[in-house]
Amino acid sequence: MAPLATVEISGIRATRAIVNLDAIEGNVRALRAVLPKTTRLMAVVKADGYGHGAPWIARAALNAGSELLGVATVGEGKVLRGHDIAVPIVLLGSIDPAEAPAACAAGLEITVAGDSLLESVQGAARANPTPSPVSVHLKVDTGLHRYGASSSEVVALATKIESDPYLRLAGMCTHFASADEPDDPFTGEQIQEFERVLRSVRDAGVQLPPIHAANSAGILTGRGSDYGLARAGIATYGIPPSSEVPLLPGMRAAMSIESRITRLIALEAGDSVGYNRTFVATRQMRGALVPIGYADGYRRALSGKAWVGIHGQRAPVIGRVSMDQIVVEIPEGLRVELGDAVSVLGGDPVSAAPSISEIANLMGTNAYEVIVGIRARVPRVFIHGGEVVAARITGDGPTSIRSYAD
Ligand SMILES: *Cc1c(COP(=O)(O)O)cnc(C)c1O
Repeated sequence: MAPLATVEISGIRATRAIVNLDAIEGNVRALRAVLPKTTRLMAVVKADGYGHGAPWIARAALNAGSELLGVATVGEGKVLRGHDIAVPIVLLGSIDPAEAPAACAAGLEITVAGDSLLESVQGAARANPTPSPVSVHLKVDTGLHRYGASSSEVVALATKIESDPYLRLAGMCTHFASADEPDDPFTGEQIQEFERVLRSVRDAGVQLPPIHAANSAGILTGRGSDYGLARAGIATYGIPPSSEVPLLPGMRAAMSIESRITRLIALEAGDSVGYNRTFVATRQMRGALVPIGYADGYRRALSGKAWVGIHGQRAPVIGRVSMDQIVVEIPEGLRVELGDAVSVLGGDPVSAAPSISEIANLMGTNAYEVIVGIRARVPRVFIHGGEVVAARITGDGPTSIRSYAD
């Protein structure tokens, strides 16, 4: 068998996601370099580090100069704590008030936007055995109309947090609706509204905590990125937020997906391929079976549209994507053997595999949805210093982590 493009480990599925922690570190350093020295960086590792494997991404980001982490759920925060990660971890969105005790016990920072959650956090903070106050961020809605207190509620909430000895106002924040569309004036309007609200809080006698607004697109376009904190998600992973907001030079995608040819299929003119016979060969040709399908997050919408890279050449997906496998057309004249490496997604441009953004375009969605959609049954293989350092294999039992380090 020919070696896979990047790594050689045996005993796991042929289809695996390679997560390059060197790329994560480089991306974080590049983001740090464009931020003011006084702006701390929060790496957003929600949704299992955008599908990459949150504990490893967190470690790499912290190595490279990120100082805080952002997650969406209490469970995500607890996973990181379980990996002995001690830095501030911020819950970015709403949690159920009944989760407040668990969030406090895990030492997570809680983002509030209204009285009901705040009161539960106050109760949980009082009952929390740890003596230090619970850190709370106050989210301000400046036009996204998703999670955030309306301007008229903010002063009262800020005062309530500040006057509670069991709480610490650790941040005030907002979130942009259209930062990935740099020409849209709405981001500027949101910043103005945010500034106005911050002034009203200061005028009410509350000392302003660290302020944060920018997501990846905000950082890359320099809007709302000069506050005390900035929150970088998608760019950390080396994926541009949109076609209009490119990455910085040197940043690159951390995840690639590789597989192998598991069967060679000789096709004659008239032979159909796959369910419902959507592809019919018009001439003699060769197909290759690749063991990845929509149960892996390689979506059925890619049927007849996507391609993979084999020996640096594009091999189109023919027929329907099945649950567990696809068939690709082997380019004419290309020498292939059973077991040859297949580049399914991302990675080195010479691999000829589509980028995450190209796959997103084919699916009619954004790169975020593609990357978080790669399912847990695809093993994650982590590279650091150019070597395999760990792999995460999720079988039908609990997630097992095989460490290849030491
Ligand atoms: C997910 C999230 C981010 C990160 O956004 P990217 O576009 O991935 O950088 C930042 N802030 C909040 C509140 C989020 O929910």
